[in-house]
Amino acid sequence: MLNIVIFGAPGSGKGTQSERIVAKYGINHISTGDVLRGEIKGGTELGKLAKSYIDEGQLIPDELMIKILASVLDSFKDSKGVIFDGFPRTIPQAEALKKMLKERDQDITVMLDLEVPEEELMTRLILRGKESGRADDNEETIKKRLLVYHTQTAPLVDFYKTEGTYQYIKGIGTID
Ligand code: AMP
Repeated sequence: MLNIVIFGAPGSGKGTQSERIVAKYGINHISTGDVLRGEIKGGTELGKLAKSYIDEGQLIPDELMIKILASVLDSFKDSKGVIFDGFPRTIPQAEALKKMLKERDQDITVMLDLEVPEEELMTRLILRGKESGRADDNEETIKKRLLVYHTQTAPLVDFYKTEGTYQYIKGIGTID
């Protein structure tokens, strides 16, 4: 089993690199952001709730997010492994993921931390907002998301360093 956490600030290239890794290793991909955007598109109750957080640049509560992740994980059959993209984003989520995998006799193989300078993140996200029309890719919400990243998500670097699975990746230059 190859279980990868792809990590980094919004705009660091998690989605782009996940696609490459999936194509190369044939593992499943969970993007919690994509799952939530799918719910919003479908007009579900979960989507309505998620939208209220996403539009504010805030995180969906851990308990709910962990339930969503568990159900996606359960839907994979004969999986060779999973790349977790956008999850975990908090310490409780990282602990829950560890527990969920342990119950399946698995663990995280590696955590890839895509490091990108802040000005570059802002440029990329504003461009993505223009090209894709993603509602949360506007300057005001991006600033909130980066703040949430630094306060709530960045502490996971130390969590995975302690786990011994942390790997720094330079997230600028060519995609390759
Ligand atoms: P992303 O596409 O990963 O940038 O996620 C977009 C938004 O979805 C985030 O700004 C959060 O509001 C929400 N979200 C995605 N993943 C999570 C998560 N693991 N925990 C909490 N909120 C999340």
